[in-house]
Amino acid sequence: MTKHSDIFIIGGGINGVGIARDAAGRGYSVTLCEMDDLASGTSNWSSKLIHGGVRYLEHYEFLLVRKALKEREVLWAAAPHIIHPMRFILPHHKDLRPAWLLRLGLFLYDHIGGRKLLPATKTVDLASGIFGKPLKPMFKKGFQYSDCQVDDARLVILNAMDAQAKGADIAVQTECVSARREGSKWLLETRDAKSGQITKHSASVVINAAGPWVDRVLGSTFGRNDAANVRMVQGSHIVVPRLFEHDNCYIFQNADDRIIFAIPYTAETTLIGTTDQDYEGDPRDARITPEETDYLCDAASEYFEKPVFKDHILWSYCGVRPLYDDGASAAKEATRDYVFRQEGDGEKEAALINIFGGKITTYRELAERMIEKIEDILGTKGRPWTARAHLPGGNIPVQGFSAFVTKMSKRYPFMETTQARRMCAAYGTHLTMVLGEASSVDQLGEDFGSGLYEVEVRYLMTNEWARTADDIVWRRSKLGLIMDDKQIAKLDDWMKENA
Ligand SMILES: Cc1cc2nc3c(=O)[nH]c(=O)nc-3n(C[C@H](O)[C@H](O)[C@H](O)COP(=O)(O)OP(=O)(O)OC[C@H]3O[C@@H](n4cnc5c(N)ncnc54)[C@H](O)[C@@H]3O)c2cc1C
Repeated sequence: MTKHSDIFIIGGGINGVGIARDAAGRGYSVTLCEMDDLASGTSNWSSKLIHGGVRYLEHYEFLLVRKALKEREVLWAAAPHIIHPMRFILPHHKDLRPAWLLRLGLFLYDHIGGRKLLPATKTVDLASGIFGKPLKPMFKKGFQYSDCQVDDARLVILNAMDAQAKGADIAVQTECVSARREGSKWLLETRDAKSGQITKHSASVVINAAGPWVDRVLGSTFGRNDAANVRMVQGSHIVVPRLFEHDNCYIFQNADDRIIFAIPYTAETTLIGTTDQDYEGDPRDARITPEETDYLCDAASEYFEKPVFKDHILWSYCGVRPLYDDGASAAKEATRDYVFRQEGDGEKEAALINIFGGKITTYRELAERMIEKIEDILGTKGRPWTARAHLPGGNIPVQGFSAFVTKMSKRYPFMETTQARRMCAAYGTHLTMVLGEASSVDQLGEDFGSGLYEVEVRYLMTNEWARTADDIVWRRSKLGLIMDDKQIAKLDDWMKENA
C-alpha cells in the first residue's frame, strides 16, 4: 500500500530533521528518509559551534551573521544540555589585522545579534594570565568574545526524536531511489538498506535536504542530468592531546586571511580546524589530505609555544560543505548562507524544494522559512513554535546546566564524575529514562567499558534509532575516541544479538 504524506523529506541531516520537527509540530503529515544513519553526513563533521561567524563580516555577509547570532540564545535555551556558551580568545597578531579592526568587528558582533545572556567582548592581557600561558610570548594582547558549542550529531538526533514524537515518520537506513510526478503529487520509492525491500510513497511536497548529495539526488532519484548547483567544499579537523588547561577556545588568524579554531573537546583533547578545499566525488569518501594536516599543524604552531606535530594527532575527520555555487572564485569566499530552489507550483505540477548550503546554527530558522514556502503550497497549519520549545531532555534552566549535573550526581551517586557529565550533556532530563531507578553500577547491565553500560545501549536502540556500534560510539556519543577496537566489536556483537 502507498502511504501519503503532505511532506516527504530526503535526508536526515540537521536541515531535514529540523524541517520534519517544525512541520510535524504544526500538524502536517511528514515522512523523512535517511539512507544511512541520522547525522551520518556533514552534520556530524562540523566545528560544532553555534556562531555568527566573525570572519563572514569581512565578506559583508551582515544578514547571515545577524541571523546566526540571533539563533545562539534561542538554541541554547532549547537544549542547554547539548549547547553550552563558550568564550573565544582572539589574539592580536602584529603582522595581520590591526587591533582596532578586530575590536570594531567584535563590537558589531556584540550588537547586531540580540545578545542578552552571553557576556560581551572584552580585551585580555595575554602577556600574563592563563589565556596567554600556552601561547608564544609575542602575543601580548587579545580579545575575548562569546559564541556557543554544540554536540552537532546529537542536535540532529534530538530534532528527529521530537519530530517523531509529533507524528513524523522517520526511516533510517532507507534511501530514496526514485521520484516521479503524477500531476500535483509525487510518487516515490525508498529502499531499505538491509533487506533491499522497496516501499512506495506519495507526497504533496518533496524537500531535497540531502546536503552535499543534493545534486546527486536530483540526478539519480529525479533523473536530471544537468544538476550543478552545489559547490562541495571539504573541511578537516584534527584532534590532539589537550593543549591548554582553561575552557576557552582560541580563534587564530592566518596569513592567508582564513581563521582556525583550537577548541576544548573531550576532557583530554583539543579540536583544531578547519580548512576550505574544493571537493569532487562521493562526500562519504572525503578524507583529510596531507596538505590539510600540514596546514592545521602549521597554523596552530604559529601561535602555540609548543608546536603541534603530525604525530600528535589522535584522530581526524573531514566533512563536505554543501555550499550554493555562487560563482565565488575561492572556496573560502563562497557564501555560507542557504538558498532554496523550488520547482513546480504545487497545483499543476507537484512541488520539489531543494536546499543548498546553510549552517548548523541556522537550521531552525531555515526550517521556519521552509514552512512559509510549504504554506504557500499546502495552506497554513499551526503557527511558528520552535523558538520557544525545548528539544528532548532540554527542559533545564538555560544557565542551570552545572546545577543539573550536581543534582543528577546526587541522584545517581555511583556514576563517576566524567561519566555523569557526559550523560547529563547527552540526555539532559531524559537521563532518568536511561538510568531509571538504578542505585548501583551492578544494575546497569553489561559493561562495555569507558562508562558505557547496557541500559544506555538499550535506550539508544529503542529511542534513538541506534543499530550498530558506530551509531553509538561516533554519532550518539564520541566514546569511539576512548573505547578500543575490542570493546567496540563486543558492543556491535551484543547489539546484533539483541536487535
Ligand atoms: C568542516 C565543516 C565545519 C563546519 N562547522 C560549522 C559550525 O561550526 N557551525 C555551523 O553552524 N555550521 C558548520 N558547518 C556547516 C554545517 O555542518 C552544514 O551546513 C550542515 O551540517 C548541513 O546539513 P545538511 O542537513 O544540509 O546535510 P547533511 O548533514 O549532509 O545531511 C544530508 C543527509 O542526506 C542523506 N542522503 C543523501 N542522499 C539521500 C537519499 N537518496 N535518500 C536518503 N537520504 C539521503 C545523507 O546520508 C545525509 O545524512 C560546517 C561544515 C563543515 C564541512
